[in-house]
Amino acid sequence: MKRGVLRTAEGGHFFFWCPGCKEPHIVGPTWGFNGDYDRPTFTPSVLVRGNKTMKDQNGRWTGDWERDAAGNLIPEICHSFVTDGQIQFLGDCTHAMAGQNVPLAPFSED
Ligand SMILES: [Zn+2]
Repeated sequence: MKRGVLRTAEGGHFFFWCPGCKEPHIVGPTWGFNGDYDRPTFTPSVLVRGNKTMKDQNGRWTGDWERDAAGNLIPEICHSFVTDGQIQFLGDCTHAMAGQNVPLAPFSED
């Protein structure tokens, strides 16, 4: 269910749209949440580790992973603080928004 800039899911989970990864990230009931769906604060920081995915022109995962010249998966890190509706990307992010602080935007699709 959409609420403010978040989506809620069963079990006390929330999704927010990450403008750096251009995909949703999930936080669970072990995070602190200020109860504000328009200007959420989550504590502690959100750390997402994965491998770089192949996306089609609509930004949807094709089910494949990008690989480097040696055929290895390319690690991706997204590390952020969500505070008062803003997402602050830390310097260890592998995407282009590392070090930036931007407002969270609502989910655009559906
Ligand atoms: Zn991200």
